Amino acid sequence: MGEVDVAIIGAGAAGLAAAKRLAYQGLSCAVLEAGRRIGGRALTDASRLGVPFDLGCHWLHSGSLNPFAAIAGALGFDLLTRRRRRLLFAGGRFADAATRASWRAHWRRHSQATRLSAHDVAVAAVTARRSRWTALADYYSTCMNGVEPERAATGDDAAYVDTDENWPVAQGYGALIAAWGADVPVRLNTVVTAIDWGGPGVRLATARGTLDAQAAIVTVSTAVLASERLRFRPALPADKTAAIAALPLGTANRIGIAFDRDVFDASMPGYVHVLDASGDGLVCEVRPFGQRIASAYVAGTRASRLEALGEAAMVDHALHHLAGMFGNAIRRRMVAGIASAWQGERWIGGAYAAARPGESGRRAALARPLARRLFFAGEAMHPEFFSTAHGAYLSGVSAADAALAALGAPSARGPT
Ligand SMILES: Cc1cc2nc3c(=O)[nH]c(=O)nc-3n(C[C@H](O)[C@H](O)[C@H](O)COP(=O)(O)OP(=O)(O)OC[C@H]3O[C@@H](n4cnc5c(N)ncnc54)[C@H](O)[C@@H]3O)c2cc1C
Repeated sequence: MGEVDVAIIGAGAAGLAAAKRLAYQGLSCAVLEAGRRIGGRALTDASRLGVPFDLGCHWLHSGSLNPFAAIAGALGFDLLTRRRRRLLFAGGRFADAATRASWRAHWRRHSQATRLSAHDVAVAAVTARRSRWTALADYYSTCMNGVEPERAATGDDAAYVDTDENWPVAQGYGALIAAWGADVPVRLNTVVTAIDWGGPGVRLATARGTLDAQAAIVTVSTAVLASERLRFRPALPADKTAAIAALPLGTANRIGIAFDRDVFDASMPGYVHVLDASGDGLVCEVRPFGQRIASAYVAGTRASRLEALGEAAMVDHALHHLAGMFGNAIRRRMVAGIASAWQGERWIGGAYAAARPGESGRRAALARPLARRLFFAGEAMHPEFFSTAHGAYLSGVSAADAALAALGAPSARGPT
């Protein structure tokens, strides 16, 4: 397969950002991607619901700090930056102001308890366990961390930077990342099976032959790293394997349902964010961008269980909640459903990395380069925007800059 300055494994947000940064500095690089498309966990389905539907990342979190906001503007993608109306469904009806205030106060206490915890412990250890809102707060926390509060680290909640600006993209976040990355030459359907970093450079083994490079940037998920389907020779040092084990991927999936008419309550017009507190809870969005669809988010063990049951069961789960809120008649108006299944994706294996309680400090060890020729990037490595597409992007830029410095090239400035 030849020889390049830098080989990049994975064409998600991190790998694409690293490639753009290196190309801008004039280095030759090859991006090797196991799948048949770019984007990784950024993927917009354009056909199943008749409108764009994000199966992976959907919101530009921390919008005003998010580099994809400027990219969206430059590429003509539309962001919704104003806040959506938020509703709470509890006790069989849409909640009144007092009930909503009670929930918000509970969630504030939950967030403060995790963010201000003196030690990095399980979220469940510092948050209320017997409140009427515990189940809903646990579900909400699980959506953020991808794992239940018993397995989520307060250190992650404390480190994560959140401006509470969550901006969806009308054409899809996945479509945005695919459009932005379209100019990066990527070798698709190219699984890297081994990285030999024992010599002066690195040698990558793939089913299509070997590739030599001065350095490599590895952007695969922690699930792939832990699986050892990608082998390292020599083996990774103990602190790196401990960091991989400390940051397993959680699970999350998005479910979308299209209806043949506007089935939602006419008294609540527009794009509405609904938190359903019944049963095991559900976050839904109805009429995003005025479309006749609803989306739902499941995470943690529930997402794993539903994913194992298949797409129809996932859609049914969301429809059950929606019917509970908007009436059984909506079932007859459904025309299409879709659901993601990230855990089963062989070269991804889940949603985003959640530190085990007591181990959130290991993200830095995960990101640390080895021997000035093996670099690591991806959502799991960013110190404060982990779990996100923009965190992946920024970690890709950092890894590219570190590789540039190691190769003696001047540090990059300018667009990626
Ligand atoms: C359901 C869901 C909802 C989400 N919602 C949001 C959101 O609203 N906002 C947000 O910012 N983030 C969200 N995220 C997280 C976001 O999508 C990810 O953090 C981000 O896309 C990860 O990018 P990455 O480059 O680190 O990894 P990936 O996108 O996983 O890219 C890694 C690439 O490496 C490839 N690869 C793996 N192994 C090999 C190999 N051996 N050889 C070659 N290639 C290989 C993979 O195929 C993959 O394409 C969500 C994720 C999920 C699953």
